[in-house]
Amino acid sequence: MSDAKKKASPRRRWACPTCEHTHLAPGGMRKVNLLRYCVPCSQQAGKLIERVCAAAERKRSAGKARSAVKQSAKRKRVAGKRAAHKAARSRVVHGVNCRAEVARQINKAEIFAPLRGRRITTEVDWRKGRGRLGYAVGSWRIVVYGNRARSADCVRQTITHELVHCLNVRTEGWPEDLGGRRIVHGERFKRTLVEAARQLYRVDVGWAERAVWRLDSKIVAAVQARRDR
Ligand SMILES: [Zn+2]
Ligand SMILES: [Zn+2]
Repeated sequence: MSDAKKKASPRRRWACPTCEHTHLAPGGMRKVNLLRYCVPCSQQAGKLIERVCAAAERKRSAGKARSAVKQSAKRKRVAGKRAAHKAARSRVVHGVNCRAEVARQINKAEIFAPLRGRRITTEVDWRKGRGRLGYAVGSWRIVVYGNRARSADCVRQTITHELVHCLNVRTEGWPEDLGGRRIVHGERFKRTLVEAARQLYRVDVGWAERAVWRLDSKIVAAVQARRDR
């Protein structure tokens, strides 16, 4: 079988750039194929004058464009993966993935049962200079200050604290407004926090602390003492 038949490449029009003479030849020819060159013009010029195939040229540039699109899609995919990885990593504080920890606590502690099936956004704020460990917005968003937490236990306790806020225990039948002042960490909050700690960490600390941050520290210390035992 001849070489031409085997390939069965469609004929394309090739034009000489000098004499404008055209002829039909396969679009894809090897560089050494004499059909690529205009012999009379080459002889006259003393060097090879190559014919130009507009169709092959178009095909090649279309292929280039296609591969450029492919390349950019790949770059975007890689960048997206990297960004997702970075975002996931930034939610990790002292080795605790805050989003996963929120889900874990809600699943584990019966006291958080009302939060099951609810969508709670979890974020980590890495900015400096905030005086608290975290906060909750309504019962749908939790923010942990990544630079404030001192240990993994501290991160977990901060999440427990904010999840108790998500339970909105302040308004559930316990009038804790005194003289128009809103009591955020009232008796009911503290009792609920201590109960959550009992269910999650199997530690029991009394709720009778004036400042809630002392109660948080007490729980963290109890968790650490229990582990060291
Ligand atoms: Zn020519
Ligand atoms: Zn609080």
